[in-house]
Amino acid sequence: MAKIQMTTPLVEMDGDEMTRILWKMIKDELILPFVDLKSEYYDLGLPERERTKDQVTLDSSYAAKKYGVAVKCATITPNAQRVEEYNLTKMWKSPNGTIRSILDGTVFRAPIMIDSIKPNVRSWEKPITIARHAYGDVYKNTEFRIPGPGKAELLFTAADGTEMRETIYDYECAGVLQGQYNKDTSITSFAKSCFEYALSVKQDLWFSTKDTISKKYDHTFKDIFQEIYDNEYKERFEAAGITYFYTLIDDAVARVIRSKGGFIWACKNYDGDVMSDMVSTAFGSLAMMTSVLVSPDGNYEYEAAHGTVTRHYYRYLKGEETSTNPVATIYAWSGALRKRGEKDGLTELQAFADKLEAAVIKTLDDGIMTKDLAGLVSEGYTATSVNSFDFIKAIRERLEASM
Ligand code: NAP
Ligand code: MG
Repeated sequence: MAKIQMTTPLVEMDGDEMTRILWKMIKDELILPFVDLKSEYYDLGLPERERTKDQVTLDSSYAAKKYGVAVKCATITPNAQRVEEYNLTKMWKSPNGTIRSILDGTVFRAPIMIDSIKPNVRSWEKPITIARHAYGDVYKNTEFRIPGPGKAELLFTAADGTEMRETIYDYECAGVLQGQYNKDTSITSFAKSCFEYALSVKQDLWFSTKDTISKKYDHTFKDIFQEIYDNEYKERFEAAGITYFYTLIDDAVARVIRSKGGFIWACKNYDGDVMSDMVSTAFGSLAMMTSVLVSPDGNYEYEAAHGTVTRHYYRYLKGEETSTNPVATIYAWSGALRKRGEKDGLTELQAFADKLEAAVIKTLDDGIMTKDLAGLVSEGYTATSVNSFDFIKAIRERLEASM
């Protein structure tokens, strides 16, 4: 059988530990036998980031911007313990942070659902995608522990020297104080990424903030979204048969729980952080969560939502058998190949991505799973847990049968 051809390279970002092992298995068993893979390879594994003084992360991010589609393996974000373990000269920054700041994107996380694992929320029939604004607010705060009585003021000095000043609180006792900010440019990018993504997956977009209480801060988010929607996206949404819907966060939370799923929920930074953990847990497992970074100008970087699964890697290094779940990483590949296919008008490549995902689902529906999932199946279903390699082999058999 002739391999499927590509025209533009896919930016491939390799990573660390157990996911690096899975990465190679996935390529060897599920991609390379079927696709004449054209990729521009960047090794974001920690040793190579150290050797290049992190230049490789920058290079890969610019490549993603140039070609428009990237697939990324999970990577270690160094902490003090990693600096020692890998003998690093510096505590290199999180690669995801670097990529995000260069692509200026929003992260969309969606669960992969299977029949045998029921969400904890009974009404959910379709995945709920969380879009988190990964910039500013409490994550870039300035805060004080107030020792005792005194006055806190909010002061802004404009570039021309004019001042805006208001009393926050006259403390009669000790307390706490916090300053937060965000920028119109970042909120605009967030909004555009959400509208673009909704169009690309043809799903409704919900957005929620606490604008009734935060009449300037949160209200600005609401206004920017609405203005961009009305001016740039309304017609395209109507043509695609999808809707944009704004509601107060309290109302959104209640509606999400009652919903059937199948939409995107855009959240401010903190809401997205908290809600994505709730939604992913309710759907089953982090190992079944896909993640894609979408830039406002339509560049895509696909990855799994989980990390490098260090605990399994240490067992693997000791020669023990591991049953690490490769599903989210396989979906990163299928997502990236499908998007490459869409951008380049390669229907065969898009069809391959569909078949690869179908083969994964078929394997899981046949009850063949990694250990983490086997423990989650609902009553009435049976599951056999296998190691990562046998699981990938089982997917390959089903993929071959469908080609
Ligand atoms: P993790 O790698 O997501 O793993 C945490 C635990 O979740 C694992 O020990 C495992 O539980 C379970 N798990 C996660 N993914 C799994 C999979 N595919 N199959 C089976 N079980 C899975 O998080 P971490 O241990 O906190 O972080 C490890 C490293 O990953 C860190 O260096 C961190 O910096 C990095 N990280 C990278 C990214 C990224 O690149 N996007 C994201 C998060 C973390 P059991 O051990 O109980 O089986
Ligand atoms: Mg969180």
